[in-house]
Amino acid sequence: MDRLASVRLSRNFDLGLLTASETAHARGIDNRADPAHLGNLRRLAFVLEEVQALIGHPLVITSAYRSPALNAAVGGVPHSRHALGLAADFTCPEFGSPLEVARRIAGSTIAFDQIIHEYGRWVHLGLAKEGETRRRQELTICSAAEGYVDGLVGCAPPA
Ligand SMILES: [Zn+2]
Repeated sequence: MDRLASVRLSRNFDLGLLTASETAHARGIDNRADPAHLGNLRRLAFVLEEVQALIGHPLVITSAYRSPALNAAVGGVPHSRHALGLAADFTCPEFGSPLEVARRIAGSTIAFDQIIHEYGRWVHLGLAKEGETRRRQELTICSAAEGYVDGLVGCAPPA
């Protein structure tokens, strides 16, 4: 057991929740957070609190922090914000579809750098690095072949 896992980052989010990964668990990959990223994870947790308060229902976090080994295993881009503790993927089925959740966040004052509607299945929220200007990008990716498109748009259900 990771002794840091119970470290509370914010009211509703502890480190265990933001480092949990089914892939890491299934493949025996060490996904403990690098202590150097704890500050970022704390910032992320505070923004996730704001999102949860905005949409009024609990978020289901599917992936937040990714160690370098996990990031490689899931095919994440090398400089993924997930690897810095600055991004989370989540859903909120009690509120609505991932697209509805993404649009609600985009229409708010929440300090995101990127909000991405991914594959019609979850929302990716990325924060700017400390000192960087937020881009407030809104993007959608429905398939790896099509890649990212501007705006928060729907994905056709898989055939
Ligand atoms: Zn993501």
